[in-house]
Amino acid sequence: MNLILMGAPGAGKGTQSANISAKWNIPAVSTGDLLRGAIKDGTELGMKAKSFMDSGNLVPDELVINIIKEYIGSDKCKNGFILDGFPRSIPQAEALDAMGVKIDLVLSIEVSDEKIIERMSGRRICSGCGASYHILYKPTKAENICDACGASLYTRADDAAETVLNRLETYHAITEPLKEYYSKKGNLVCVTGREKVEDTSAAVLEAISKYEASKK
Ligand code: ADP
Ligand code: ZN
Repeated sequence: MNLILMGAPGAGKGTQSANISAKWNIPAVSTGDLLRGAIKDGTELGMKAKSFMDSGNLVPDELVINIIKEYIGSDKCKNGFILDGFPRSIPQAEALDAMGVKIDLVLSIEVSDEKIIERMSGRRICSGCGASYHILYKPTKAENICDACGASLYTRADDAAETVLNRLETYHAITEPLKEYYSKKGNLVCVTGREKVEDTSAAVLEAISKYEASKK
């Protein structure tokens, strides 16, 4: 199964992608995580991507297209994959088509701008394993310490209030048109993002099960 997860920044793509990955046993990749990793490692890709990311803009298409091409072509994606945060523009979707990969399902997690802003201000990321938390909705057991690996948490630079507004604008202008792109192909399923992570997870898993049943 080849899956794409869409949604505004902070809609909960990362959480849902980890969840689906565990339940269906298919690898998930987040272009955001790959890019943050590249910045941390100080690679050329990271240096090119950093200023775009910090200001809340998209990284140029050719950079992300190349890293996704490499990932999808790798052995572990033989039996399927989940893309979290890619494609994020029409040219990226066209590049994916040109790679000859068949997409089964595009899940769009729908959350209002108002809720997004509220969520991002409380988001915290683990400096060790990259796990995502929220001070209100998904707190860690011990303050500022990752439940999974014990490393400390930080706030992403691009979660600053002004940057969040810019990312939302970019989402509506450049990424959201992909809904029409995939809806025309008959691949799109929209899921309402709920307040509780478990409720969104249930809706997402139901959408995937429905898709699988329809194929039998
Ligand atoms: P979010 O979905 O919360 O914005 P991500 O971790 O998915 O977080 O992305 C963080 C940033 O990484 C984006 O704002 C953008 O600058 C960059 N990025 C991630 N994926 C892409 C992509 N497919 N195309 C261009 N830029 C990307
Ligand atoms: Zn951790």
